[in-house]
Amino acid sequence: MEIEAMAEKIAAGDRRSLSRAITLVESGRADHRAQAVALLERLVQRNDRAPALRIGLSGTPGVGKSTFIEAFGMMLCGRGLRVAVLAVDPSSARSGGSILGDKTRMEQLSREPNAYIRPSPAQSQLGGVARRSREAVALCEAAGFDVILVETVGVGQSETMVAEMTDLFLLLLAPAGGDELQGVKRGIMEMADMILVNKADGDLRATATRTCADYSGALRLLRKRPQDPDGFPKAMTVSAVEETGLAAAWDEMQALTEWRRETGFFEGRRAEQARYWFREDVRNGLLARLDAPEMQAEMDRLAEEVAGGGTTATAAAEEMLSRLR
Ligand code: GDP
Repeated sequence: MEIEAMAEKIAAGDRRSLSRAITLVESGRADHRAQAVALLERLVQRNDRAPALRIGLSGTPGVGKSTFIEAFGMMLCGRGLRVAVLAVDPSSARSGGSILGDKTRMEQLSREPNAYIRPSPAQSQLGGVARRSREAVALCEAAGFDVILVETVGVGQSETMVAEMTDLFLLLLAPAGGDELQGVKRGIMEMADMILVNKADGDLRATATRTCADYSGALRLLRKRPQDPDGFPKAMTVSAVEETGLAAAWDEMQALTEWRRETGFFEGRRAEQARYWFREDVRNGLLARLDAPEMQAEMDRLAEEVAGGGTTATAAAEEMLSRLR
């Protein structure tokens, strides 16, 4: 499809075009890349909508991410909002065998006309995942979704990546004994705008309430962030299965977003994220050029020369770098 026509259709909310566009940004082919870049440029130029709210959601396998997204997404759709669900999954080894953003795990939402679910593509390295996911977010935004949920599994760098491409970052946790608290890394706690302790129902309710209190305490010990009003970041209990606490959580998300919009932190953060991704892209682009076979051959040749004492590491590095200019 011609890029201009594709942009028109995406802006008109055509889902098939959106899916094709996401496939395009996911492709590693050079001609696809060029088309994707042109498409994104076109869409950004013409996008005069209010920005979508981008919400990152992280949690270990089994904590209830799909169940939560299904229930929360349905609630938002019920309020007349259009919801997109994307997944960032940098591990080629799937977390516990389940595919993030798997439609079969969100049956109602996948049938909902105002929702769009895009599973994570298989096989990918971290750098590529970040760019693709960020571009998919931009495409969903251009397609007029009001809320974009970006799901990721609670492992290492993927959380930082998702936090850098979303406006709000939610950490979904399970009810647990006291020692679980130490299991959540401080860095991740610091990233979270809200901690949601899921499964606050039935036999688990009391434990969930206690866990929530523990995390509230832990969050209070963190330095207050300038981008937050009083009381944030905060911990709340929810039950994705019983669909309780979801409306209250959404109220808090909206209150926080409203506050950040009024204080300029919302726009400021997006600008900061754009700057961050620009730098990351340059860095990754340079690394990709180093990966080219002729560059690798040159690296190997110079490495041997250095090893054999024929030249110094410094001089060889200079020579290598000069080839990137
Ligand atoms: P994910 O791997 O994080 O996506 O977790 P799932 O959504 O697949 O849920 C894992 C398991 O936890 C499933 O058996 C769910 O039924 C269960 N679960 C999810 N949310 C809740 C909840 O709110 N309460 C209870 N009791 N179980 C839940």
